[in-house]
Amino acid sequence: MTRHRLAKPLRFVLPEGVRATMVIQAMEERPMECCGLLAGHFHPWGWEAETAFPLVNELKSATRFRSEPGSLIAALRLISHRGLEVVAIYHSHPETPAFPSTTDLTWRWAEGVADLIISLARTPPDVRAWQLSERHFEEIHLLGMVPALA
Ligand SMILES: [Zn+2]
Repeated sequence: MTRHRLAKPLRFVLPEGVRATMVIQAMEERPMECCGLLAGHFHPWGWEAETAFPLVNELKSATRFRSEPGSLIAALRLISHRGLEVVAIYHSHPETPAFPSTTDLTWRWAEGVADLIISLARTPPDVRAWQLSERHFEEIHLLGMVPALA
């Protein structure tokens, strides 16, 4: 489901408010992992998040997450209703760095959808974006505001 041939370096625009929503959710749900979706738009240069949709981690685990289906379906409905697309899935690492775990590489949302990880292992929390495949991950450059692009 790759929508564009993306120009390197990969870029992901994450507005400050969207980042704050994820970080606050991660802190509120600590010591469990939190999860959610970011909705927005795909561009030739990468991804642009517009809104965060927090989901329920039905595993209630400190090291794993799985979206509870009801919260997922409700979020997908709203995203489609607003004419947006799922550009990223995010989850928190309450105790470990913001790097993908082996589990994260195994369980991926869909090709072309970015993976964001919020680490609470340091202060302030660290947020990183990744493009994952089965055996391999690549960091995506996070931008706090919309860049001036031609
Ligand atoms: Zn993880």
